[in-house]
Amino acid sequence: VFYRTPASISFQWAVWSRHKQRFDVNYDDYHALFTGKPIVPATQRKPPFWRTNKPMNQLIFGMQHINKDTIRAIIEKLNDAPLVFYTGYPSIIYQIATTAVAAGLNMMAGPKVIFTGAEPLHEFQRNVIEAFFGCLVTDQYGTSEGVANASKCPEGNYHVDFEMGYLEVAPDDIGDDPATGELLMTGFTNLGMPLIRYAIGDRGKLSRGSCACGRHSPVLSKLEGRSEDYVLTPEGNKITRFDYIYKGVNGLEEAQVIQRKAGEIDILLVTNTEFTSDEQRKILEALTRYVSPTLEVHFKVVNDIPRTRSGKFRAVINQL
Ligand SMILES: [Zn+2]
Repeated sequence: VFYRTPASISFQWAVWSRHKQRFDVNYDDYHALFTGKPIVPATQRKPPFWRTNKPMNQLIFGMQHINKDTIRAIIEKLNDAPLVFYTGYPSIIYQIATTAVAAGLNMMAGPKVIFTGAEPLHEFQRNVIEAFFGCLVTDQYGTSEGVANASKCPEGNYHVDFEMGYLEVAPDDIGDDPATGELLMTGFTNLGMPLIRYAIGDRGKLSRGSCACGRHSPVLSKLEGRSEDYVLTPEGNKITRFDYIYKGVNGLEEAQVIQRKAGEIDILLVTNTEFTSDEQRKILEALTRYVSPTLEVHFKVVNDIPRTRSGKFRAVINQL
């Protein structure tokens, strides 16, 4: 469990909002959000495959419903609504672009700019997304713990949002660039659970000097890590997040999803005495409802879940 104060969450939103203003859009402009969270039940076969969130002025699309059967309705909706910007996981927006191209669909009314986050934006994804939607893609680097953040400028450099936390690099022996090392973060805004020189498990390099955009804040370059695995469902969807299938399940301490074969997954569970077969059934029901009705699931109760070499817990591992 990680606690954050309301003030620290507000600060994070202000930093995200500033990133948007660098591209002449406001956070409350009408926009589309592409999320890994379930938005409509997986069994739903007819549009709408999205929901409107009035207070946030957004249309929300869930990755569970992006496939060759739904893509036409989704592109029609995007073309129909005058959306100022898109935001969400790059893997999901990339999936829309590739699925739409394969279906021979065109974007008539793309947004002004696309903001991605939570996962690294790969070069191949950026090229496909920019070509299909006809606009620039930008992203920012952040942490769910709210300790540090860096947002891209129009020149494509990650400027450290230094008011939020102190970001430093601890040089290590990995690789051949001595200036690249493990990122350590000290947050300034979350007094509810302060973290000092917190090692998030990512590596990078900081450079000073002026950027062509005119900003003088340090630039985070060579960001490594943060790649996320996914599960490929028999329906052809790529699912990177599973936290919602464990919601309301008692007696569960940790869980990890591993895909070794097409069409099936193993779920490793670390449980305590409160965990019963009823709890396992809840997980299976949520999976069937939100992830895939046909995916084969094997549960394995284990004593512990191994960490990566850098000590990171991985919720999803793909061994396909
Ligand atoms: Zn810049």
